[in-house]
Amino acid sequence: MNILVTGGAGFIGSHTCISLLESGYSVIVADNFCNSESKILEKVMEITGKRVITYEIDVTNEEQVNSIFKNHQLEAVIHFAGYKAVGESVNKPLDYYYNNILSTLVIARACQMYSVNKIVFSSSATVYGDQNSPFVEDMNLLPTTNPYGETKAMSERILMDMCVSDSRFSVALLRYFNPVGAHSSGLIGEEPRGIPNNLMPYITKVAKGELENLNIFGDNYSTVDGTGVRDYIHVMDLAKGHVAALQNKKNGAHVYNLGTGYGTSVLEMVKAFEEVNNINIPYKIVDKRSGDIGVCYADVTKASRELNWEAQQNIRDMCRDAWRYEKYRSSVKV
Ligand code: NAD
Ligand code: UDP
Repeated sequence: MNILVTGGAGFIGSHTCISLLESGYSVIVADNFCNSESKILEKVMEITGKRVITYEIDVTNEEQVNSIFKNHQLEAVIHFAGYKAVGESVNKPLDYYYNNILSTLVIARACQMYSVNKIVFSSSATVYGDQNSPFVEDMNLLPTTNPYGETKAMSERILMDMCVSDSRFSVALLRYFNPVGAHSSGLIGEEPRGIPNNLMPYITKVAKGELENLNIFGDNYSTVDGTGVRDYIHVMDLAKGHVAALQNKKNGAHVYNLGTGYGTSVLEMVKAFEEVNNINIPYKIVDKRSGDIGVCYADVTKASRELNWEAQQNIRDMCRDAWRYEKYRSSVKV
């Protein structure tokens, strides 16, 4: 069974390719490598011993996308391709709307034209905005505070409307919480460009000595220790969530939170990283980051009940695997 994976060379996409190949699917990747490198897919093949067919294309290009649908009998599409930096989306809204919305439209139209009735879409917990956690799938969505979040909410809406108009479709809208960690081989992981925005890649850079200290954004939230709380999920658990979503054939559009259901504060994460890897992470408390919310974690009952999927790995696993990959990365100068 052929699965088209757009953005398959990216952080979540590459780990999902591994889960798909290990579950017996054939994988076809469409990626323009604007935020990844083709050699990641070589690592995926090395880890699994299986082949990945790759198309270096921009998935906003309808002609190029359609040619993949013509060349292969596809069972489903997992649509990861898109831009993902919240801050950058505020400065480059048109790029974000163009890439993230147009890619979703092109993929959805191709699926309709070629009768590929299963789509799994990468959404984000960002769509919940600043509501009280735990976030539940049937909460009303608030306008998000940034164009990135809007592209996710709009893409969800596009795919939901498509399902209303065409009952053949089965669409899973997966709202990811905070994916971190890396494959246990240490051969693939997160590849942020420049100074990382996200917590875990920032911590691994401090651990390596590339950055002097972690800046913790605020310590007076209403949380266990005042620092921000998030629902971190191991990227391999997230990858398996996509396989579970593919196997669910329920018609219509269905939203699922993919998280662990547990919140971890920044200081708890720092402490776990220090203990597991036996490394000191110096930090400073600085001002809150603009647009941040204090607490964000998932209600994961629906994914457990309907997809028969639950995250298995804990914060310590995430810290161990993120650091293993960072060490490998510096040893081979990826
Ligand atoms: P990533 O940047 O590592 O991967 C995205 C991949 O898509 C990259 O390989 C990039 O080259 C490719 N791409 C982007 N635009 C493309 C286009 N027009 N045509 C072809 N390829 C294109 O990001 P990721 O962390 O793996 O995220 C994957 C998806 O999950 C994204 O849609 C992102 O918004 C969503 N998401 C990510 C997070 C997170 O924290 N990482 C959280 C929630 C949702
Ligand atoms: N954070 C931090 N310092 C950093 C990066 C992040 O204190 O250098 C905090 C941030 O305020 C939030 C948590 O870590 O409470 C997770 O942030 P990240 O950017 O990884 O995810 P998001 O905010 O998008 O959920």
